[in-house]
Amino acid sequence: MLVAAKELIHAAADLLYPRNCQCCSQPLAKHEKGVICAACLETVRWIEPPCCSRCALPFAGAVEDAFECGHCRELELHFQRGVAACLARGIVRDAILEFKYHRKLYFGPHLAEWMLTAGRERVDWSRVDAIVPVPLHPRKQREREFNQAEYLADAAGQAFRKPVWKGELRRVRDTPTQTRLSREERMANLRNAFVVRDAARWKGRCALLVDDVFTTGATLDACARVLRKAGTAEVWVLTVARGAYV
Ligand SMILES: [Zn+2]
Ligand SMILES: [Zn+2]
Repeated sequence: MLVAAKELIHAAADLLYPRNCQCCSQPLAKHEKGVICAACLETVRWIEPPCCSRCALPFAGAVEDAFECGHCRELELHFQRGVAACLARGIVRDAILEFKYHRKLYFGPHLAEWMLTAGRERVDWSRVDAIVPVPLHPRKQREREFNQAEYLADAAGQAFRKPVWKGELRRVRDTPTQTRLSREERMANLRNAFVVRDAARWKGRCALLVDDVFTTGATLDACARVLRKAGTAEVWVLTVARGAYV
């Protein structure tokens, strides 16, 4: 009985401060910070140029630096540039899902670190006036108890000393989960989903939208569209990961 109680206490402590890698279960070395071991971190697939300057889609082959992929040339996107740190695969994908849907908050610092690494190298912070998290509908935020985009936007705000505008861009329409929908279906779903609180704040500004993952870009583009309509001069997008193009 006593042993069981002790085990329970240890298990509870491990939940708070896991000392095993949360991806492969191997014990973490003392010097390893966070909850992912060095071997698992090695498997992260970083997005390196050449990649699309707008949607961050990696491109195999040699191209000049200012490159835009075929999808982006066809679409009328409302943001000018997009940066994603890594591919939404393997441990990156798992960490995002566990963080977002299962409240495994200890993945947060890893996600932020990945995003900040790419942001440091590829975002021109001298242009950015405000960091804007992609908002959740209030009902969804209540259910989930937090907005992963706000967490990441706060990390970027601290790292790059930029204001984080929360509540200035709002989600007024709840949309069903988008993961299984095509880009066109997502666009239709997102029409009129976002509004700005005060258009005067955005005039002539450069806003950087932050989210965890860029998949089709439909959500980010719907946000960018509303910001541009309000007079925002330039919209950048920064995400932890880039999913497969649908
Ligand atoms: Zn591991
Ligand atoms: Zn593109």
